[in-house]
Amino acid sequence: MDDTELFAKLLGITVPWRVTRVSVNVPAERIDVWVEEAVGTMFPCPTCREPVSVYDHTAEQVWRHLDTCQCRTYVHARLPRTTCPVDGVKQVPAPWAEARSQYTRLFETRVIDTCRECDVSGVMRLLATTWDATWGVLTRAVARGLARKPKRVPTRLGIDEKAIRKGHHYETLVCDLERGTVEGVVDDRTQASLEAYFHQFTQEELATVEAIAMDMWEPYILATHACVPDAGTKIVFDRYHATCYVTAAVDKVRRQEHKVLAAEGDERLKGTRYLWLWNAERIPEWRRAEFEAVKRTELKTSRAWAIKEALRGFWDYVYPKCAEKYFTAWYFWATHSRLAPIIEAAKTLRRHLPNLLTYFTHGITNAMAEGINSKIQTVKLMACGYRNREHYKTAIYFHCGGLDLYPRPEAA
Ligand SMILES: [Zn+2]
Repeated sequence: MDDTELFAKLLGITVPWRVTRVSVNVPAERIDVWVEEAVGTMFPCPTCREPVSVYDHTAEQVWRHLDTCQCRTYVHARLPRTTCPVDGVKQVPAPWAEARSQYTRLFETRVIDTCRECDVSGVMRLLATTWDATWGVLTRAVARGLARKPKRVPTRLGIDEKAIRKGHHYETLVCDLERGTVEGVVDDRTQASLEAYFHQFTQEELATVEAIAMDMWEPYILATHACVPDAGTKIVFDRYHATCYVTAAVDKVRRQEHKVLAAEGDERLKGTRYLWLWNAERIPEWRRAEFEAVKRTELKTSRAWAIKEALRGFWDYVYPKCAEKYFTAWYFWATHSRLAPIIEAAKTLRRHLPNLLTYFTHGITNAMAEGINSKIQTVKLMACGYRNREHYKTAIYFHCGGLDLYPRPEAA
């Protein structure tokens, strides 16, 4: 077998294409392979598929391929342009590469696999690719994945907001809680953002949504009511987010009280912040005694803490009626605590109670998308690349979209 035959086999070049020349430069660790179509070949017109003859050729193009041993390998070709009586002059696509790519499909596949394991600069170091070309591969991979994805509405959705870094612009993420995939990434966290996701579906399709987990965020609530039939019975406010309101209230009470005590020289609350915020069982062993001691003293913070801990019992119920009864009792206690932040938090929860109680019917939280959240953390750690918002979205779809990313020739 000579060089040209070997490389035709390795590259998967088949009739009418053939390898005409191979140049091996061992000191430079480089191999160049030239490919041409057989003389007189008719190609299907790229538009109407009728066989038509070659009109002329483009200038020579070069595609990087997988390395051959230690040698970087490049494929060279002048692509034919056909002339069709109906459609005119059209360029025949290279069977080994995607349009507008400087890499062969096999090399793009390698870039995709490598990027699953490390960040873009890691890909660049391992494969000696450029920043722009690497992002080109990822962008095309996501575009084809999204185009191949069957259009369907998940039955259990999670809606969450993510910022690259604190204070940066937000993206709204729509997740399929059953599959653990990100279904949509839209700019900002406005009512219009979420509506943009819903609007790609018909009313009948949206009626198949059974439950939607979200934070108590007004724009999301409004968008869901505007788009999803029977939204009132389907929205489930995320229990962790709801709990956060009360936890934040405890912190506020502690800060206010600490200020007053410290002014009188009483430093009891100093350095105790997290003791009050953690769930009781998460307090580290070595700080338990300290916490028990400070908790027993007559403090507003202790009362606020007890109210917060009591709310956790709410989520243990199975039946909405029983949970509601428990909440009513808790609410009475909280609103009679004479602790303004706690009263305010309790009122917020009561205002949203119907969609806190839906938790007992649907049993969903945004934390169910835990796999997604940990992957998003990884995506954020690679944040050096995401000064560009489109790159950030591409990376989320790439790692969390559950998409079919690989290039392959289209069926003729
Ligand atoms: Zn044609």
